Amino acid sequence: MTYISERLRQQVAERAGNCCEYCLYSEAFGRSVFHVEHIIAVKHNGATALDNLCLSCPVCNLNKGSDISSIDWDADQAIVRLYHPRRDVWQDHFQLDGKHVQGITAVGRVTVFLLQFNCTMQLERREELLKTGGYPCRK
Ligand SMILES: [Zn+2]
Repeated sequence: MTYISERLRQQVAERAGNCCEYCLYSEAFGRSVFHVEHIIAVKHNGATALDNLCLSCPVCNLNKGSDISSIDWDADQAIVRLYHPRRDVWQDHFQLDGKHVQGITAVGRVTVFLLQFNCTMQLERREELLKTGGYPCRK
């Protein structure tokens, strides 16, 4: 496991506004502490530096693991990279359809699938938060 200093952890959390940079849940409404995630994993030679780190809820982080791509089964079964919170704009790849997050690009589709944005637990939380205006935590 790679050491991430408390200062770096704070910088990542502040930059993200304590919001999961993948699924847009707020840490304030979560039931657990969010993780500082390597966008490109250390095993792929990703740096432990601000531009390769993001704040992630445990569901996104644990589903992503060290993955950097997946297979787009809805199109040509190509290997497609995952959403990159530092380089991509969320709205370019995802949209909300009620409580569901839809991938509107190949990058969006594989990320929704791999990170399980629409698993039962995420849908239940999102439905609750949508009623109170607590989702998404960033626009
Ligand atoms: Zn998340």
